[in-house]
Amino acid sequence: MKSNTLHLLPVAYGAGANRKGCEHASDALLALGLRAACQRNGHHSELAPTLHTPPGERWAALATLLQQQTAQVTQSIEDGMLPVVIGGDHTIAAATWRGVGSALNVAPGLIWIDAHLDGHTPLTSHSGNPHGMSLAALLGHGANEMTQLAGPALDPTRVVVIGLRSWEQEEHDLFRLLGVHMYDMQTIAKHGLHTVLRYAIEIARGPSGEAGHFGVSLDLDVIDPIEAPAVGTPAAQGLHSNVLITALRGIAYEPGFCALELVEYNPLLDVEKHSAHIAIDLVSAMFDQNATACIYVENTHGAHNYAPLPVVLTQGKGSILWDVEGKRYLDFMSAYSSVNFGHAHPRLLAALSAQAGRLAVTSRAFHNDRLPLLLERLTSLTGMDKALPLNTGLEAVETALKAARKWGEKVKKISAGKTEIIACEGNFHGRSIAIVGLSTEPQYRDGFGPFPAGTLTIPYGDAEALEAAINRHTAAFIVEAIQCEGGIRIPPAGYLAVCAEICKRHNVLLIVDEVQTGLGRTGKLLACQHEGVKPDGLCLGKALGGGLLPVSAFLARRDVMDVFTPGDHGSTFGGNALSAAVALEALAILEDEHLVERAEQLGKYMIERIKALHLPAVLEVRGKGMLIGIEVDPAILDARAVCEALMQRGLLTKETHHTVIRLAPPLTIADAELELGIKLIAEVITHLGQVARAA
Ligand code: PMP
Repeated sequence: MKSNTLHLLPVAYGAGANRKGCEHASDALLALGLRAACQRNGHHSELAPTLHTPPGERWAALATLLQQQTAQVTQSIEDGMLPVVIGGDHTIAAATWRGVGSALNVAPGLIWIDAHLDGHTPLTSHSGNPHGMSLAALLGHGANEMTQLAGPALDPTRVVVIGLRSWEQEEHDLFRLLGVHMYDMQTIAKHGLHTVLRYAIEIARGPSGEAGHFGVSLDLDVIDPIEAPAVGTPAAQGLHSNVLITALRGIAYEPGFCALELVEYNPLLDVEKHSAHIAIDLVSAMFDQNATACIYVENTHGAHNYAPLPVVLTQGKGSILWDVEGKRYLDFMSAYSSVNFGHAHPRLLAALSAQAGRLAVTSRAFHNDRLPLLLERLTSLTGMDKALPLNTGLEAVETALKAARKWGEKVKKISAGKTEIIACEGNFHGRSIAIVGLSTEPQYRDGFGPFPAGTLTIPYGDAEALEAAINRHTAAFIVEAIQCEGGIRIPPAGYLAVCAEICKRHNVLLIVDEVQTGLGRTGKLLACQHEGVKPDGLCLGKALGGGLLPVSAFLARRDVMDVFTPGDHGSTFGGNALSAAVALEALAILEDEHLVERAEQLGKYMIERIKALHLPAVLEVRGKGMLIGIEVDPAILDARAVCEALMQRGLLTKETHHTVIRLAPPLTIADAELELGIKLIAEVITHLGQVARAA
């Protein structure tokens, strides 16, 4: 937002349509608190005198009004304010965006949120009413009264119509010819309003990107008339108001946002004032600082290496998260299984604060009295001989790779510099240069090479490929028990056991990355235990920190770990007393609350329940324990759009690979919460599937 002062510009014009009422909209909305709603987030506002239709013949009066309004909008921007034009019917748009363009010396992009196109000229109009002509006029087509105004015509390639569902062929043809982007209700249902709006903002900003100006013209008839019937021209099957409110929240903080227009409220039809309150909530949400200001500041000052769902979380308890607007969500993501114990587990909080007050970080230059307890517990739980404590998952994997290379040279006696490590296609082991060097995902590698030599990849789930790839230089095979980021891919039964046998026969280390699958998530302590496999090297992370701290470990057979001598490898924070105390408590809770067993039972139940629903567009429901993926048919549904719709309904999760919806709630989730989650998933996929089929 360029300005913190909103300039409210009421335009009492209702003569653009046959039905009376919209001329009273601005008075009515202001009387019901529109100004206060705009100011709620710390903005100043100035209220301009209401513009009224001058007396006289319809078109001549309109010409005069639009000229006055154009000048007023221009002046508002030149005075350093952000115009908020309150109509009136949609005719007045013909002036708003000319006025904006006049002040900026260039036409802004425009997001036109409306059930209609308003793309007629007097020659094509069926009714002759100007409220169906304003967008055509803004594009330079139509009567002089509506086009001969100060300021440039809009660039059609930077105009986006959203919510379209009622139009006449002539106007649609005109806009198609001009290159206007039109998103109808079916497209919105398929991709989700959030996604469509993101596209719209980019299109409206135009080629100069974030430097490009754009505005929003919001016609209230875009909302379903069941919710907001008091509009100029209701059209059935519209957007849900809460979805629109959520999608538009904070749009005013988008770089380039320069003006807002709200039109087509008809107070004469609004006996219960319900439509007015929706209109006010919409405007208020657009200027709501909370979520979008957070996102805006993050995007402005932070690297853009993630594309999070547009939700800003502020609190968590158990399986519930709350966003900054106080909306409640079920957490079906658990921070990629880091939060297996739920948010703010009281025992973990107590362990954290008690240890933090006693001793936290001393580095490995000295011993501390917590680390030995953790190492003993970890090794006895997993049956591994030794453990090396670290912080993040990638450090555990990096440590495994270093151990494997050195073991290859020093123990297996592979010629120096010749060791090879085999990984699987579709793997995800983290983001360091060595680790993305193992990846087969082009984006993870692009621009980050060259990568360390001596690695190769084979198809996941294919034990014969492993046998064929092993040669005398092979030191290790690193594999995920289930490929999580790769799309919750579960290898064929017996795969890991056969791999273990092959590795043993060839004296190759089997390193299993259980950073995400470990510590109960899949219904066993370790996912490799489903096949009775004991690896030579094991990577743990995520849940080991109890959802409070980054704590990871590489565990291994004695002869593997013993290749490390003092000075070979280390980490300042690895094994600190605070991390060790929290991890110890996390492991204790895992046992005390029988979470491994719970994951097994609830996971089975979840998979069976979801399978039995026979949801549309679902190709497969698969998983182990509480690590579950729903694979959808990409020709019908986009997994990201499903996750966005789930977010709207109050369930948070993240897709993997565009086609898989991941379900990984905390292992502590209550039965009723799980039921609610399944119900929301069923409703959302059923709804989106039906809409896509109907399209
Ligand atoms: N291995 C696996 C299997 C993972 O899923 C991840 C993270 N998603 C990592 C390693 C890397 O962990 P971190 O992000 O903590 O470095």
